[in-house]
Amino acid sequence: MARRNRFTLLTFRGIPIGVDWSWFLVLFLVIYFLSGYYRDLLGDDQASTQPYLLAVASAFGFFGSILLHELGHAVVALRNKIPIGQITLWMFGGIAVLQRDPRSAGVEFRIAAAGPLVTLLIAAATLGLGSAIAGDSFWDVTYFDENASVAPAVAVLAWLGNINAIILMFNLLPAFPLDGGRIVRAAAWKFTGDREKATVFAARLGQVFAVLFMVAGFGMLLAGAAVSGIWFGLIGWLLFSSARATVVRSELNRRLGDLRVADVMDSEPVAIPSDTSVEQALDEYFLRYRWPWFPVVDAGRRFVGLINRGAADAVPEPVRPSRTVEQVIDDEPAGHDSGEEQFVRSDEPLESLLANVELRRLGGLAAVDGDGRLAGIITLDQVGRALRGAIGRTPPGSSIEAPEDPPPRS
Ligand SMILES: [Zn+2]
Repeated sequence: MARRNRFTLLTFRGIPIGVDWSWFLVLFLVIYFLSGYYRDLLGDDQASTQPYLLAVASAFGFFGSILLHELGHAVVALRNKIPIGQITLWMFGGIAVLQRDPRSAGVEFRIAAAGPLVTLLIAAATLGLGSAIAGDSFWDVTYFDENASVAPAVAVLAWLGNINAIILMFNLLPAFPLDGGRIVRAAAWKFTGDREKATVFAARLGQVFAVLFMVAGFGMLLAGAAVSGIWFGLIGWLLFSSARATVVRSELNRRLGDLRVADVMDSEPVAIPSDTSVEQALDEYFLRYRWPWFPVVDAGRRFVGLINRGAADAVPEPVRPSRTVEQVIDDEPAGHDSGEEQFVRSDEPLESLLANVELRRLGGLAAVDGDGRLAGIITLDQVGRALRGAIGRTPPGSSIEAPEDPPPRS
């Protein structure tokens, strides 16, 4: 839901960073409530604009903190070659969309822990700086003592320290898909060696916490704290549906079971030798088979890259006989820097392809063996058929799409 109604503010290392419309609602509420808070704390009169300016500064500090938290996840994911689709800020915080699931428990753990680590550092920095400036009176304002007297900037540091401590504790709850729940999943994965089992365990635990959130929200509502009650109820509901979707996806993965890329790929693919001239490639391959691209292999049949029709056509006719296909390989097409490879290992589980961006873009991928030799071609169609087989009870005529990206990460 955060994916619609969003617009991009900036990009960081190719990742679009955007906000959802609901972000503005929270921005407004935060500024509204904090204006009152700072007015009371600093004893300013009604005409003063200072509380309002402090509230605006705090609100931006708040969203900056959430953005840094998400970038913490994103940077570690990128380091592990997991592309990030986008980062979105919305009313319940931030979401960094990973293009595929981590392939090991260790990577899952490091990505999940990176966000809370950033938040911990921000909390430590703001609280440390505040107490260095204001000494003991800083802790009075940190504990929301209305009689505390501190400088305005120090009051903002205290609030930012507090809010980051709250973000940290919330995210570390073992409620999948929150960071703490992902850490639980990584631990269970490491312990059992079975990702699907670990995922279902973490997601079920997440559902328990989600119900607790909803119960707590209902209790607050009865106690007259309507805003907090609705907030808790909504968070509980969101966590619950996200955890349930994870269980469903995991069930699908389990049904795809031990199917590997090699089980469904075309294991006798047509490939172009890398020393073939572009002219020959056009005549003997592109014109003959009318496919949009071919894998290119060297003399040892190792996969070198893909050549696509457009790139071959773009070579001027007079030089086509002398230029080899290896020189026009499409390794990083302009504007499509998805960070994903144009090949997969043939022994990969089929399920790992479900969120593969290059597979969707190209309609197929080269499959290579452990030595990098071309073993086959796997197409989107073949993956779709295997999925239909796994689901088994698809009504005739309906089409199955690969499931959505992995559930968002807060
Ligand atoms: Zn996080």
